[in-house]
Amino acid sequence: MTEQTPFVVGATYGRRKDIHAKFGGQQQGGISTPVGEPFVFLFTGEGGHAFGYRDEFRDDGTFWYTGEGQVGDMKMIAGNLAIRDHAAAGKSLEMFERMDGRGTVRYMGRATYLGHHLEERPDRNRAPRQAIVFELALEKPEAGVTAGGSQLPPISPSDRAWWNLSLEELRRRAKQRIGRAASAAERRVVTYQRSQAIKVYVLKRAAGCCEGCRANAPFLTKKGQPFLEPHHIWRRSDGGPDVPEAVIGLCPNCHRRIHYGADGDGYNRTLAERMRELEPNA
Ligand SMILES: [Zn+2]
Repeated sequence: MTEQTPFVVGATYGRRKDIHAKFGGQQQGGISTPVGEPFVFLFTGEGGHAFGYRDEFRDDGTFWYTGEGQVGDMKMIAGNLAIRDHAAAGKSLEMFERMDGRGTVRYMGRATYLGHHLEERPDRNRAPRQAIVFELALEKPEAGVTAGGSQLPPISPSDRAWWNLSLEELRRRAKQRIGRAASAAERRVVTYQRSQAIKVYVLKRAAGCCEGCRANAPFLTKKGQPFLEPHHIWRRSDGGPDVPEAVIGLCPNCHRRIHYGADGDGYNRTLAERMRELEPNA
């Protein structure tokens, strides 16, 4: 899987003109498997929500992607099989987010299969069924300069171990790359370690005050840490997966204001400006 990706993270493409006209593959649906190309194209967002599709980034940094099959239990065939076996087949998973109903998509990056599980989700007829949910690691495609898994020894999950790391060390860990030859287990470890590093990094940088309104955190957690919520200033498809300079630590009021406030989008832009002060070297 050393084939270069022809796509740029964050750039938008016309699905039919820029993707299928050049590489082939099914023009409908979430999973497209062009014949004779080293790619599987995945499309996420909008479109499928009505049928119980719900793709999302999880707390451990993995991206959960719902398989295909509109009615009845999903089966490990066709596109679903192409995702599971992409590494063995020498194909990369290229992930796009739908931007509108007219086929504009944005390139999110290259994904790797880590595992999958079944979940009960409604099908097109609103009948409960077993859906296949893929657990993927999403990477910027230039990633993977090393051969193995993590370049850094993993930190134990204990809060104390993480909070004892310096900001610099947390930043290094937040940005660590997954090697090309890493196994699924190694990828899962690095993905988790990275997302944990970002969370603790942001909370330590905030030092107990909301990075939006600068008020003190409203309370201490049971573990004695000031309570603030990490918020992603850009949709992750704009710049690929997590980086520390995309995440700000907010009090619950500021966080809700972005999502529910009449001025939510404007406030988010203000915070994006503030991030330049918080991360001048980014
Ligand atoms: Zn605030």
